[in-house]
Amino acid sequence: MNFQAPKGVSEYLPPRGALFDEVREAFAESARRACYGRVETAVFEETSLFVRGVGESSDVVRKEMYSFNDRGGREITLRPEFTAGVLRAVLEHNLHRGALPVKVFTSGPAFRYERPQAGRYRQFYQFDLEAIGTEDPAVDAETIAVAWDAYAALGLSRLTLLLNSLGDKQCRPVYREALQKFLRALDLDADTRERIEINPLRVLDDKRPEVREQTRNAPVMTDYLCADCKAHHDAVRGLLGGLGIPFTDAPRLVRGLDYYTRTTYEFDHALLGAQSGIGGGGRYDGLSEEIGGPPLPGIGFAVGLDRTVLAIEAERAGADTAAAAGCQVYGVSLGDDAHADVLTLITALRRAGLRADMAFGTRGLKGAMKAADRSGADFAVLIGADERSNGIVRLKDLKTGDQQDVAAAAVTGWLLERLGTK
Ligand code: AMP
Repeated sequence: MNFQAPKGVSEYLPPRGALFDEVREAFAESARRACYGRVETAVFEETSLFVRGVGESSDVVRKEMYSFNDRGGREITLRPEFTAGVLRAVLEHNLHRGALPVKVFTSGPAFRYERPQAGRYRQFYQFDLEAIGTEDPAVDAETIAVAWDAYAALGLSRLTLLLNSLGDKQCRPVYREALQKFLRALDLDADTRERIEINPLRVLDDKRPEVREQTRNAPVMTDYLCADCKAHHDAVRGLLGGLGIPFTDAPRLVRGLDYYTRTTYEFDHALLGAQSGIGGGGRYDGLSEEIGGPPLPGIGFAVGLDRTVLAIEAERAGADTAAAAGCQVYGVSLGDDAHADVLTLITALRRAGLRADMAFGTRGLKGAMKAADRSGADFAVLIGADERSNGIVRLKDLKTGDQQDVAAAAVTGWLLERLGTK
């Protein structure tokens, strides 16, 4: 075969796909418990939604979008992030005219033309959650708690929650100017100088030591917050304390998308090296108006499912990360006549809640038993001509090698008793 996946695409194959499922489901379950509803929205959108929503000065819009003209000449972009599209869907379907906040979650692929490396892909997967229509700081804390509890349910412990406020349209411009003034006086390369004019907050995010060193004493947003933003930030900090969620104040935390206001946060994992951000979110109180909607505050987060899988693998190093998804029963037919009986039996086992597979293709008893061992199943069920005529099946315990015959009619109960629906 001459084909490979395009560069930078994150893919999952068994058994790792089961871990991916587990991660996505942990976030969905945490969201459902907080009464968020599932949505599925467009994977591609009109390009201008992202240009206006995510912001012209962001790296995502300037350098990373997968944009093309479709056959009807429309300018289309594969979603580089979820929030703009989810908000577009909420507004388009008038959910904001009902009870507020609108609380929704979704998950799926996102696309950014980035330089691929460990934990950074061009097609990657996010879980996304949004609460739209309230400024209440309690909902900021709620979104953080939903993510926090999902990470905890997955057994992750090497996690740091970084918290900051980016102010609002009153106080951020004042800060932006103070920051620009400070940065313009530094000795920086041409690219970075350009960035000072376009998106100065991003300069604080620069990881290069020579830039870090120079920006060490840069002014920080939290010193410039207006009274309302400061009260909001203090409230969120107090609420997180009450929820027992530890956080680190990160006055230099800025995020890649331009729409953030006020509360901004990131979850960092200690074992992931350079790509340590496994999730992040914040408020976007101006986004709705930016895309032509009514004033409508909102907050949400996106979790990087790929990096969360990597974090679990790093923490569980050596442990079997996908044990739960294994097959429990493996059917083997002795001779062609029994093949349909085996399929019927394992289908009945599946309907009873067991995970069952069978040997497909003609490979003889030896090959089929090898496949049974390899499947990781607890029991093999064997049916041949003798078993058929006597109305029995042979059960083999694949761990001990013990064998016994059980009446065909009783086999489902026999297996359920021993395996349950685990
Ligand atoms: P963002 O949408 O940039 O706020 O990112 C939210 C989360 O998505 C990050 O914390 C990462 O875990 C994940 N993420 C963002 N970009 C990528 C990428 N190119 N590859 C893999 N994961 C990513």
